[in-house]
Amino acid sequence: MRINPITARTNYYSPSAITKTKNEVTPEGRTDLTDLNHLNLTCNQSMVNFKGTTEISRALIRQIPLEDKLASLFQNFKLGDMILIGKNMHECAKEMYKNAGLVKNAIKRGFFIPDENLGGSLGFIKNSIGDTEVINLNDFEIPLITNNKTYSLKAHESFYVVPEDILSVDGNLLKIKEEPKTDMSMYRKNFSKAFDFEKETNQNIEKINKKTISRLMQTSRKNSTPVTFAQVGGLQELKDSLKKDIIYPIRYPEAYEGMELNHGFILYGPPGTGKTHIARALANEAGANFISLNGLDMESKWVGESEANWRNLFSEAKEKQPTIIFLDEFDAVARKRDSRDVYGDKVVNQILTLMTDIDNENDDVFVIAATNNFKALDSAITRSGRFGKHYEVTPPDKEGLREIFKINTKNRKVDEDVNIDKMLDKLVDAKATGADMRHIVNEAHNNGFVRAGIFEKMENQTYTGADGANFKITQADFDKALSDFLKDKKDTSRKPIGFIKNQAS
Ligand code: ADP
Repeated sequence: MRINPITARTNYYSPSAITKTKNEVTPEGRTDLTDLNHLNLTCNQSMVNFKGTTEISRALIRQIPLEDKLASLFQNFKLGDMILIGKNMHECAKEMYKNAGLVKNAIKRGFFIPDENLGGSLGFIKNSIGDTEVINLNDFEIPLITNNKTYSLKAHESFYVVPEDILSVDGNLLKIKEEPKTDMSMYRKNFSKAFDFEKETNQNIEKINKKTISRLMQTSRKNSTPVTFAQVGGLQELKDSLKKDIIYPIRYPEAYEGMELNHGFILYGPPGTGKTHIARALANEAGANFISLNGLDMESKWVGESEANWRNLFSEAKEKQPTIIFLDEFDAVARKRDSRDVYGDKVVNQILTLMTDIDNENDDVFVIAATNNFKALDSAITRSGRFGKHYEVTPPDKEGLREIFKINTKNRKVDEDVNIDKMLDKLVDAKATGADMRHIVNEAHNNGFVRAGIFEKMENQTYTGADGANFKITQADFDKALSDFLKDKKDTSRKPIGFIKNQAS
């Protein structure tokens, strides 16, 4: 609707010649620039003698109509600039904060013009197509007169403005002008406060852009961890939590804007329960990079330059974000130590510092630490908010085991008469894990190959495609695998001394 945006000029704050004007009266009845030569002199003196302006110059500056002060700032109004006008800067900024959603580009410079008479506050921004927009920071409507037509600018609404528009704030008229009556570039410092956020803002823009670009990369990245949540049996609650805590924040960052996310997780439970498996699936589902270290990597390879290595690891994770860092056997580095273990202390502190950085920056980097021995972890880690969420991963129940069975037999031929119910009950009693179920299915498959003479044929090189096509894993193959497993488990399970209950059975 609006055309002729107020254009940006260069030479902001550059002194230029003062044009002498006559005393003029604005339509609002205020006196225009009274004696610019006098003002010029006074300000120059005050700049030499004092840091601020003298009382006289302040009084003179007060005489400059607000519309001319505003127009003077408009002469160098750029994308990323914001001008606030009102009685009190803190109040104006507070109102602007509430209306920050109306600003569609990053604010790099801020200006404040104090004005006692306006009867409200206004914000001005330059939008990305070069138009100047006014934001009504007041809780009341204000009229905007353009081409003799009056529009109502609702509270907390923005509108394009062009030269000759008039805003009426609580009865005070403010005309939008492209240029002030006279060049006042020398005095901008005296009637406005300027704030430069450019460096900080640019750094943040870079960060946001990197996040965006990395999301583009996700769609073209070769998937190195093709495990999906569908291939993780049981663990439904954990899957649901990880979706809410990690996958959705990565997929829909806009929905989590301003939310403080938890970036550190501890998964604990017996070996083989799927902690690594679910972390891989998580990275894949989230379209994130997966960096995995085990206890040995962390403990031995990194000794000496450990702190630098941790820093490099995290900075790589940040560069490639979204990233899941998986620290298996975390107790290897984060175990409770005695007071003399200075080296261990340093590593733990370093990890916590790096995690704090990720929390502060709200990076898409999530650290999943896994351990079979939660109690062995240093309380500096477990109690800190840095690893704020702890999930116990227990051996699966019957239905969980059934799911893991199905996952592991999906691409194998199983005889339709096979009934696994009894097997599942026995495995639940034995507290079998997902890894155990995978082992049993593999063993049953091998048993079947022995039974059908397939290994023998392979050995004799008489194996043909027809042998494979006719092969099925039978109930007997599973039964044997199960009894071998239970026997092995009994042989290897060490019972604590005095553990009477099992001895009796
Ligand atoms: P952990 O990290 O807890 O020691 P892993 O994730 O390394 O256990 O488990 C070893 C293997 O066992 C996995 O690669 C996977 O094949 C199988 N497994 C374990 N738990 C599950 C599960 N819940 N669903 C499917 N497979 C599982």
